[in-house]
Amino acid sequence: MKRTEQLAKAAISSLRPSRTDLENIDGPDAPGIRLTDVTQGSAYRAFLALQNVPERQGTIINVGRTRAALAEINGVWPSTRDVWDALRSLDLSRPVREFLWRLTHNVPKVGKYWLNISNYEHRSECQPCEVLESMDHILFECDAEGQGLIWQEAKDLWSRTGRPWPEVSLGAVIGCGLIVIRDERGKAIPGAARLLKIIISEAAFLIWKIRCERVIGNGNDPEKALSEVEISNRFRAAIQKRLKIDTMLTSKRKFKQRAIPTKILRATWEDVLFPNGGAPERWWSRPELLVSMWPPRPRGRER
Ligand SMILES: [Zn+2]
Repeated sequence: MKRTEQLAKAAISSLRPSRTDLENIDGPDAPGIRLTDVTQGSAYRAFLALQNVPERQGTIINVGRTRAALAEINGVWPSTRDVWDALRSLDLSRPVREFLWRLTHNVPKVGKYWLNISNYEHRSECQPCEVLESMDHILFECDAEGQGLIWQEAKDLWSRTGRPWPEVSLGAVIGCGLIVIRDERGKAIPGAARLLKIIISEAAFLIWKIRCERVIGNGNDPEKALSEVEISNRFRAAIQKRLKIDTMLTSKRKFKQRAIPTKILRATWEDVLFPNGGAPERWWSRPELLVSMWPPRPRGRER
């Protein structure tokens, strides 16, 4: 009791008038605030900042969906920790990592989010399909240009490896870094898994980007819709860019510890670059071999 009194006295004597900046409160780690500093408005803002319950709920659901999707694909449940670790994989480009992180936390404002915002309810709908929009709808169901074609491109590219395409869902996209590919004897093939991770994440990210360009950039104007060739080209360019970055990252001189071993580069790309075998010597240092992974399109078939 005595100690409590001492502590209380010490606390009172150390109180100095201070103004707490409530504008910058971010998340649950709000600093303590003096009651005399609190106005109704600032208290409300602080309260809103602390209210991250719906977002957390969304995160829990998405991590659960990811674990379930991976259990289906791999036959083993990954831990929650595995899911978070995979999101930090340096095999993914930074924008893709950020996109997957936002996806996991349900950050993108789509669908239901807008139903509660007066005068913006119309934004909850996918205009071409006339249904409530959701991340699942955008990534896997939408009839607007993009989604179907990009997944087809992704599957076509992967089919060069001769391996089956997994069941891709929102959970599989978030957890694409955890998919295990095995050979006939059950041995894991990390190079193939790395390629699949790149293909799935780049495809999902591009679908999301094209959806945002259509809805936010072009106001759903059908006149501005991308052609099929343009969409395919966007996917191919994204993958081609990843290949180029990978080949550059093999330079130990430039990237030191961050450099990737040529063994990993070869294990990732040779199956799709040279599906019939016979990869040329040191192909990664020969830019003329990497102009395009895809044969040129026949003329006159632009759409
Ligand atoms: Zn749609």
